[in-house]
This record gives sequence, C-alpha cells and structure tokens, in this order.
Amino acid sequence: MSNLYLSSTEVRSPNITYSFGNDDQFMVCLKCQRAEDVTERVLQYSKVSPVAFLAFLLGPIIALIVLATTSKQHTFCLPYCKRCWNRYRLASWLSGLSILLFIVALVCGIVAMLTFDSGYMFWPLPILSTTGMACLFYWKQTLFPRVIKVDKAKIVIDGGVYGDITFAYHGIAARKV
Ligand SMILES: [Zn+2]
Repeated sequence: MSNLYLSSTEVRSPNITYSFGNDDQFMVCLKCQRAEDVTERVLQYSKVSPVAFLAFLLGPIIALIVLATTSKQHTFCLPYCKRCWNRYRLASWLSGLSILLFIVALVCGIVAMLTFDSGYMFWPLPILSTTGMACLFYWKQTLFPRVIKVDKAKIVIDGGVYGDITFAYHGIAARKV
C-alpha cells in the first residue's frame, strides 16, 4: 500500500514532519491536486465549547476563563501548493480585518443615526459589513480542509486524495513524552 493514502485509523502526530508523497508519487496539494510548489503547511483549528458563549452572559472575565479551559487548538501539517496557501493566508487576513471593519461600521452607524436623527440610518453600514464578513469567512472556510470530526483527543480531516487523516491532539503537557 502506498504511503500516499493514510487510513483514518493511522493517527498522526502534529509535532512530526512526515512525508505525504513517496518515491513513486509526488506530493500533491490537498486543495487543487497540483504538484507544483507543494510544501507541508502548518494549520490550526480551534474548537470552542458552546459553554463559553453562555458564559459571556456571566461576564467577559468568566467567559475568558471558560474559553481558556474548555477550548482546544489543534495544530497539524498538510500539503498545500503556493497558490492555494497564499489564497488561504489572504482569506485569513481579510476575514480578520473584516471583524475590525464591523466594529468601525457599528460606530459609523451610530454616528449616521445621530446625524440624520433616524433609527433606520444605523443599519446600512453594519448590514453591509456583516455581509462582507460572512462572505470572507465562507471563502476562508472553503480554503481550509474539511473537518470531519473533532474532539479533545483528535481531529479527523478529509484529506481528499490522501483519504481521511487523523491527527492526535498534543497539548503542552503531552510534549514531555
Ligand atoms: Zn493547491
């Protein structure tokens, strides 16, 4: 059996660089299956517990504590070509920027509402920025590998031509082993 196809039962360590290709087959991009300029890139996926959102009702400090104790960030490496990786980075950067623009739009909405003395004037900018933000986050998601299953111990990724790939969670404490 070729190295290229990893079974879902084969658990991969995120701290070790491993070869997706072998002598017979070139490593291909997970997203577009092209073989040019393909490198293993480090990706991160955060699993946030829904409890953390409820904790916001109790206050931001409690929410942050709950967020820090219940959420897990999975780190893993997957082959991406330069083109797909640059798109992913651009999408990440723009979606981050869109959060900032959303806050600016809220402030501008309040200013517009007060200037024109009309409640309706609050809405155009926040609606526009929310739409833009949704589009950018969706775009970013399409460039990220599909997550099949995630829990505290592992993350299962739809590896396309590589099959399903399972990455074990390695916390800071586990690195000592
Ligand atoms: Zn690609």
